[in-house]
Amino acid sequence: MENVIIGIDLGGTNLRIGAVTPDNEMLSPSVIKSSAVAYADKPIEKICEIIADYIEKNHIRKVEAISIGVPSSVENDKETVICTTNIRNQEGEAVFSHTNMAEGIRAYFKVPVFINNDVNNILLYDIAANHLEKQKVVVGIYIGTGVGSSVVIDGKPLEGKNGAELDIGHIPYFGGDVRCSCGKTGCCECYASGWRLQELRRQYYPDTEIQDMFTKHKDEKPMKDFIQACAYIYAVMVTIFNPDTIIVGGGVPEMADFPREEFERAVNENTGRDVMAYGFDYLYSKEFIGKGVIGAAVFARQRLEI
Ligand SMILES: [Zn+2]
Repeated sequence: MENVIIGIDLGGTNLRIGAVTPDNEMLSPSVIKSSAVAYADKPIEKICEIIADYIEKNHIRKVEAISIGVPSSVENDKETVICTTNIRNQEGEAVFSHTNMAEGIRAYFKVPVFINNDVNNILLYDIAANHLEKQKVVVGIYIGTGVGSSVVIDGKPLEGKNGAELDIGHIPYFGGDVRCSCGKTGCCECYASGWRLQELRRQYYPDTEIQDMFTKHKDEKPMKDFIQACAYIYAVMVTIFNPDTIIVGGGVPEMADFPREEFERAVNENTGRDVMAYGFDYLYSKEFIGKGVIGAAVFARQRLEI
């Protein structure tokens, strides 16, 4: 194996690693628990160890770059992780907080190293997998445990001044009074997220398995309100960005019997009239564990070409 990019998707629970070819095929995927990194004395050295083991075990002769997706915003240097609130050490502190993750890994392997927000990598994967590279504006909103979003304009990910842009899960819903994990009150993530779906299950449907929530209850008021709450987030983003395509993904919309028609009707009704005059396409991201790993490699290739 040569000329591959090592892609890594470092999630809250699992770390996935794979060798990605220039035509975006993922070879020899492997998964370990993220706690192996989170609980290590020196987390970055631990990541180097995991990568070195992987390279040796799979007889990889030449690595073009290493690219890691993290569940955090990343500064515009694409090296410095802002804060991994979902990856904590045994003392309960965020493992990476304003931490340059790339430096140590680059010094160890002597290849280019890129760090990027995981949702941004997944959007790059979805764009590549669906051949949307030529579109002007693509917006991806992924509702999993929380809400993540990324926007690609003229092929380039939208960047704010520092890299902290698009934290839409923590936009407040007017009048919202539920306490959010971020410390604020009434964030939209409190009303439209996997976390909320678990709350609804506990409160109204304790005998239903989480994966059956749409199948069994989508026509009942608590679930109808939940679908509306999800739709508002998409409607806001569509109204702001006037996209060619909106990508709907994450664990919640990827669940069985997610009511796409009702959801789309709610998005359309709440989107600004000028945008609706032109319309946009919906694209549903498909469940596939390699998205973050391949997306990391797509991101690295884009940066290598600059
Ligand atoms: Zn919040």
